[in-house]
Amino acid sequence: MLTTWVVMPTCLPLVVRRCSACASERFRANGRFRVNANHKLIDAWLLVLCTGCGDTAKLTVLERTQVRSVRPELLDRMHGNDPALAAEVLRDPVVRRRHRVALDWDGAWRLDTGGADLPDREVIDVSVRFAAPIPVRPVRLIAEGCGLPRAEVERLIEEGKLVSAIRLHSRLSGDFTFTLKR
Ligand SMILES: [Zn+2]
Repeated sequence: MLTTWVVMPTCLPLVVRRCSACASERFRANGRFRVNANHKLIDAWLLVLCTGCGDTAKLTVLERTQVRSVRPELLDRMHGNDPALAAEVLRDPVVRRRHRVALDWDGAWRLDTGGADLPDREVIDVSVRFAAPIPVRPVRLIAEGCGLPRAEVERLIEEGKLVSAIRLHSRLSGDFTFTLKR
């Protein structure tokens, strides 16, 4: 039997970006968009606010795009300041590359283990799924999910009692499985 854990976002991640008005390096999206239509062309941005001084910056969603090529549903969502759309924009690597920004997921996710203790068996297989591409070190997830100190997880890895096909010390943001032998 396979135990499944899920890494779940709990709120929007912060945007790592240097503020030009204060010393802060974090911006928060509150789900607001700005849409500017000019004749047949449309520009649209996701607004992000500096966590230090409240200064507003814009992340481009549409740039001088033909109005008729934009899906009406997308326009509706931007006009409605859809928070789910804000999450999609922040997760879009094209948007992040264009603005040279990264995401800070600290405190913006949780590990859902289904609330149950690990089954009391000698060999336990756990599948970890990511509901959003949140970069986390597997050793941290395993310590949290098993309720063990990090040092204990390190010891289990060294003793070959905790094994996985992926590297447990490197950050990753995609599904993986591991086996715990007791
Ligand atoms: Zn600022």
